[in-house]
Amino acid sequence: MPVQEKNFWSTTVAPLAPAAPQALPDSVDVAIVGGGFCGLSAARALAKRGVSVAIFEAETFGWGASSRNGGMVLTGMKVPVPTLMKRYGRETVLKMYAASLESIDCVEQIVREERIDCNFSRCGHLEVACKQAHFDGYEASAALVKREFNHELRIIPKTELRSEIGSDIYFGGLVDETSAGLNPARYVAGLALAAQRAGASLHDHTRVEKVEATPRNGGRKFHLHTSGGAITAREVILASGAYTTEATPALRKKIIPIGSYIIATEVLPDDLARELSPRNRMIYDSKHFLYYYRLTPDNRMLFGGRAAFFPETENTVRQSAEILRRGMIAVYPQLREAKIEFVWGGTLDFTFDVMPHAGKIDGMYFAAGFAGHGVAAATWFGAKLAGLICGEPNDVPFDGITFLSAPLGLRSENTWALPLAGMWYRALDFFT
Ligand SMILES: Cc1cc2nc3c(=O)[nH]c(=O)nc-3n(C[C@H](O)[C@H](O)[C@H](O)COP(=O)(O)OP(=O)(O)OC[C@H]3O[C@@H](n4cnc5c(N)ncnc54)[C@H](O)[C@@H]3O)c2cc1C
Repeated sequence: MPVQEKNFWSTTVAPLAPAAPQALPDSVDVAIVGGGFCGLSAARALAKRGVSVAIFEAETFGWGASSRNGGMVLTGMKVPVPTLMKRYGRETVLKMYAASLESIDCVEQIVREERIDCNFSRCGHLEVACKQAHFDGYEASAALVKREFNHELRIIPKTELRSEIGSDIYFGGLVDETSAGLNPARYVAGLALAAQRAGASLHDHTRVEKVEATPRNGGRKFHLHTSGGAITAREVILASGAYTTEATPALRKKIIPIGSYIIATEVLPDDLARELSPRNRMIYDSKHFLYYYRLTPDNRMLFGGRAAFFPETENTVRQSAEILRRGMIAVYPQLREAKIEFVWGGTLDFTFDVMPHAGKIDGMYFAAGFAGHGVAAATWFGAKLAGLICGEPNDVPFDGITFLSAPLGLRSENTWALPLAGMWYRALDFFT
């Protein structure tokens, strides 16, 4: 089969369409912009509490990063714990780390409660060290995580690495058994159906073009102009991630959209698949410009990375197929003859400090900046925003931390400096 420029996961799930086209209500309690994990998780949680909620997705539900990702449901955050401690202090970081663990439970609970058939499995993740110095740092990391968070990470020396991965290029590994894997397209489709069953009003192919606020009874009311008509709402949640548009300029300024690309091989024989990943882990390496990879439930090798830094276009997707294939063969020479059947790209929502953020912007609730942790984090943040709207106490440790705008040249509307950022990270990988 020739390489298809297509998201493999999307071939495993029927395109989701609401049962019948729904008329736009005149007003709702909560309007949500963006139908990925974050927006749908919020919609589900709100509708389950009897709140009237409409969710708008410019394309189809899950069309953004939520159906295109590696399906790795990961513990921890992108920023190393010692840096977090320096930035935010121990108490806040304890809450942040606890949130990262809770977010995986949150996904598991939704999958179970809503009976979402998405191959969720607590298979654990494996980080592999690309340099001896990276491996040498694992001992201190694991000790810190054990001491501060009472969370167990297991160090795998190079001599034992073959029990975890069928590759000899790494210097050792670090396993976290708490992480999980799933099929993201099936998960996001299941979330949409769950939100719909709970009573949320789902509107796909409906782009929010403008949001205006007018004062009302000492508070304010929002008017949303969408491609399907106008609607008013008491509260708005912005869950538009890396795909945030000019409709919400204040949030857009904060987001750095970074392209990431994935290839998937043909279905591999069972014994080869077991050799490549004996414990079926979610695997990523220790570089900034990293590779992440895993087996799919039908035994393909799914191999991703930032082959280009720009958000996806036909060109970047096509070029990525060969770049990633070379990367995959460097890790797994056993795959030299394996056919690549799929290649696709998606855009991640980074922020300047590489942290997730949530709270209010221009009077609207938002959550963004999940980077490579959004499967679990976006689900959790969506549920948390729903809780805040329903009057729950604000215990979100990412609310209120400094949230700088992205520098010019790295923002959605103008990304000319992204290749420079890419070069910077490649240089860091060379020297550190
Ligand atoms: C290639 C790739 C691999 C990844 N791998 C992993 C991984 O293995 N593990 C992990 O945890 N994370 C991973 N991520 C990140 C993760 O997928 C995201 O963080 C997560 O999906 C973000 O969810 P979201 O709901 O915030 O945004 P999205 O899923 O991007 O949804 C936002 C939606 O908003 C819609 N939208 C935007 N503006 C408007 C508007 N004005 N009106 C209507 N709709 C609008 C968009 O169409 C889009 O569908 C990966 C991402 C990519 C791209």
